[in-house]
Formats: sequence, structure tokens, C-alpha cells
Amino acid sequence: MTSQEIKSLTNQYVMNTYGRSDVAIDHGKGAKLYSPEGREYIDFTSGIGVCDLGYGNEAWADAVYQQAKKVGHTSNLFYTEPCARLAEKLCKRTGMSNVFFASGGGEANEGMIKLARKYSFDKYGKGRATIITLKNSFHGRTMATLTATGQERFHNYFFPFVEGFRFAEANSMDSLKETAGDDTCAVMMELVQGEGGVLPLDQEYVSAVAKLCAEKDWLLLVDEVQTGVGRTGSLFAFQQYGILPDVCSFAKGIAGGLPMSGIMANEKCRNVLTPGTHATTFGANPVCGAAALVVQDVLTDEFLQEVQKKGAYLREQIEAMDLPCFGKTRGLGLMIGIEVAEGYENGKLAAALADAGLLVLTAGPGMRLLPPLVITKEEMDAGLAIMKKTLS
Ligand SMILES: *Cc1c(COP(=O)(O)O)cnc(C)c1O
Repeated sequence: MTSQEIKSLTNQYVMNTYGRSDVAIDHGKGAKLYSPEGREYIDFTSGIGVCDLGYGNEAWADAVYQQAKKVGHTSNLFYTEPCARLAEKLCKRTGMSNVFFASGGGEANEGMIKLARKYSFDKYGKGRATIITLKNSFHGRTMATLTATGQERFHNYFFPFVEGFRFAEANSMDSLKETAGDDTCAVMMELVQGEGGVLPLDQEYVSAVAKLCAEKDWLLLVDEVQTGVGRTGSLFAFQQYGILPDVCSFAKGIAGGLPMSGIMANEKCRNVLTPGTHATTFGANPVCGAAALVVQDVLTDEFLQEVQKKGAYLREQIEAMDLPCFGKTRGLGLMIGIEVAEGYENGKLAAALADAGLLVLTAGPGMRLLPPLVITKEEMDAGLAIMKKTLS
């Protein structure tokens, strides 16, 4: 099919819920994507932080193929090897204790919310179920995670929303203390707010929140759906912040492009969810597990240091361009935000870049870059050259 045919068919038969860019993708290699007509794009999006190994990775594709031939799905009524090994790896590399696997980020956060409420219910009974989240956060599109998302524009149309969420200002302990109370069971946050605009939380604030949570026996829930799996230059962002959450969620990059997510609990929370209290049909799919094991093999400590260097390089180069439409950059590792100057619109800048052969994302009012973690210097330079030429 041609790009035009794919677009018309999609617009006719797929619900119109996404602001798609005017690009159809047929295949890719490394950090490059190609349209059906062979038009090349440098990819600074990874499919919203998912394809950490880029495209056409042989080891990844082979693992998927081999596992698909053996057994593609079994349900959680039986044991299979890939996710057992993956869970072990994740726990050993982070100090967490056990894992529950699901399929999407919103679904993982639902599990985290349920775990926090059950922990509190088991120990303190009813009436202590409120979860404090941060303003500007994003936690998903299910009813509870939409409610938990601390942005007013998401709290529309779908009334009634779920009870038991309140919002505190990020980076303010005063706001957290004012917002929380006797009814609180947990604090949930992203360490770098992604959709909200790539806003890293202050180290001091994160340490203080962890300390207060421990004192009050509020669970500290860290949403690492976007920051997790190497994106910020450590396997999980909480490792750079020097905290151990009670529960943390992951999704996007975990299986390098297949739908997989999950939550990890620390020792205190390892037995909160019990048989019959939580489940999902597609969770712990062996093909996704096999793909995720390849991702784990690639993300060695040395590789993660490279991710930090690549992120620093991209930010330096972008700031050195001194483009009229851009302000400062911010972020952690290969999760990069760029301020957009007054008088420019991030969506229009992204469209102009796509036209010129560079794919980027927006977040909040700014731009967001989430390149494949395997991106090479040549690919970064090719993307930067397009950026400079198009936006100068
Ligand atoms: C993307 C994202 C989600 C939602 O994940 P889905 O897979 O789209 O359900 C939740 N939290 C954060 C921080 C995210 O970036």
C-alpha cells in the first residue's frame, strides 16, 4: 500500500482519537524509519519511548520468533520460563522483591493503586485510601489513572471520576503536607514528569518525600512507565535518586516494542496482592518476556553510561544551535525536554521537522526527545543537522 492508501483506510476505519503526524511507516533500521515509498526519517521518538533497541534488531527479532514458535501464550494458570527469568533479573538489578506483569502503563498503575489501597486496608481498615499525586503528572487513560493524572484538562467528559485522589505541587514539601492527611495511604509520582513537559523532580524533594512516606507508612509509588528501563541512563530512575520505592511501575521500553508492563514491590509489599485479588489475561506473555530479556542483555551498566553521554551530547548540541524557537533543555539521560520560546507552537515545530525528515515528540508546551537508546553518533548528528537547517 502507498502512504496515501494507508492514511485513507486508517481515517475511514480507525477511531479518530490520535493527533497523528502526516507520516506512514513501513520499516526501520537502527534509529531510522522508512515510509512505504522509501522516505527516510531520523527517529527521536522510539514510538514514545518504547523501541529502546531501535528497529530491526536481529537478536530481538530472533528471540521473538523463536519464542513464538515454541509457545505464544499460556495464561497465568501455568508456569513459563521467560517472565520468571525476567522477574529475577529486574529484582536482582534493583533491590526490589517481586514482580506482577501486565500489558500497558495505565494497567500497571492500576495495579500499583490497588496494591497501595490493599496494603492500607489490611493494616488500618477502611477510610485510609487516598493517594496523593503531583500536579502536571500523567499516569494513564483508565478511569483511575486519568483521575490520578494531575492535569485539569484530563478531568473532563467522563464523569464521575474515581474517588480518593488529591494533588500536591511538585517539589514542595509544604504542599504535600497540606494535601495529605489521616486518610492518605500513598504518594504516587514520576521522578521525571514525562507528558507534563519533561520535568525532573528535585533530588532533595524526592529524598524528603521518601522519608515522610516511611514515617507515616504511606507507600511511595513511583511511576517509571516512561523513565524506566534505561531511558534516564540508569535501569530505573529511582536508582539515580537513591531511593527504593515501595512499588514501582514500568511499561513502555520494557520489551523493546511489544506490549508489556508490570509493577515491582519491595520486601514490605511483596505479599500484599494475593490469589484472586489481582490478575490479567495477557500478563507475563512469554513472547514479550523473551523480547524483554534481550533488552535486559543490551542494557549493561556500560551501555547505560553511554545513554547518559548521548543525552548530554544531544543537549549540548541543541543549546549550541541557539535557535530562535528554542529555550533551555532539561531532562535525564535520553529523556530530553526543550523549552519552546514565546510565539512558537510545539506542534507546528514537530510537523515542520517531520516534513524535513526528523521525528520528535511534544510534551506540555515544549518539545520532547526520546530517541532509541542504541542511537549512534552518526544518527544523532543527522537528526541535529535537520533540526538546525529546518528551525534556523
Ligand atoms: C505513557 C505513560 C503512562 C500510560 O501508559 P499506557 O501504556 O499508555 O497505558 C503512564 N504513566 C506514564 C508516566 C507514562 O509516560
